[in-house]
Amino acid sequence: MNIIMLGAQGTGKGTVAGEISENTGMVQISTGDIFRKNISEKTPLGIEADKFISQGNLVPDEITIPMVEDRLTWDDAKNGVILDGFPRTIKQAEALDKILEAKGEKIDLVVNLVTPKEEIIDRMLTRRVCTNPDCKATYNTKLHPPKVEGICDKCGSPLKQRDDDSNPDAIKRRLEIYEEKTSPLVEYYKNKGVLRTETVSISINRMGKDVARDIVNDIKK
Ligand code: ADP
Ligand code: ZN
Repeated sequence: MNIIMLGAQGTGKGTVAGEISENTGMVQISTGDIFRKNISEKTPLGIEADKFISQGNLVPDEITIPMVEDRLTWDDAKNGVILDGFPRTIKQAEALDKILEAKGEKIDLVVNLVTPKEEIIDRMLTRRVCTNPDCKATYNTKLHPPKVEGICDKCGSPLKQRDDDSNPDAIKRRLEIYEEKTSPLVEYYKNKGVLRTETVSISINRMGKDVARDIVNDIKK
């Protein structure tokens, strides 16, 4: 089974993907995490990707698609994956279809997370990430704070705000790009009959963990 997490920044894609992964054993593949790990290790891929990410722009398809194609050949991806942050353009979605088709696989479920805009910006500003590139746990100072302020529950490393989350211009740019380049994927996957739209919002008291629980239950049925 292959799952895609769709939705704007700050809707909780990573949280939902992480919980589904923990409860099903499926591997979570986050393109943002792969880029950040490469940036912190100063690999050629990281140095190139950082030029785009720091400005709030998408990393070009020519870099992103081969990176994901390679990641999907790893052993842990054999029994299906949860893609978190990929695809983000129609071109990436079409490439993904071809990559999976060649292996006799397909996308089975696309979880589309929707959150009111005011809440999204607030969540991006209060998001904190673990500085350990092998851990990459995500927290939120308001919604799910760590047990000890500023320290990762999972590995004990310090938490920090992502550079692109502390730059208001980059936040604005990322949301605009989401509307322009990524939101057409909603229609793309609706047409394939695999779209599941879920609202995540404090106003209806439904958070990422609730969505994850429901999806895991449905998968296990
Ligand atoms: P967010 O959901 O806040 O955008 P991510 O961790 O998913 O955070 O991604 C961080 C950055 O990495 C993005 O702003 C973008 O520059 C880059 N990135 C991640 N995934 C992709 C992708 N599929 N295509 C192009 N760029 C990507
Ligand atoms: Zn950690």
